[in-house]
Amino acid sequence: MEFDFECWRCWANNTIYGEPTHGFWRDRYKLPADWNCWNCGAVNTTPDD
Ligand SMILES: [Zn+2]
Repeated sequence: MEFDFECWRCWANNTIYGEPTHGFWRDRYKLPADWNCWNCGAVNTTPDD
């Protein structure tokens, strides 16, 4: 599944792919802990909810 995040620096929309994982209680998606903005190259941390 793909998730959209906004870069903290330039607000460009970044699409991050999350690998499906099967948790004990419910299915979750494993996202990278951080990623580089395609637009400005800033390192963004994936929000954890
Ligand atoms: Zn950016």
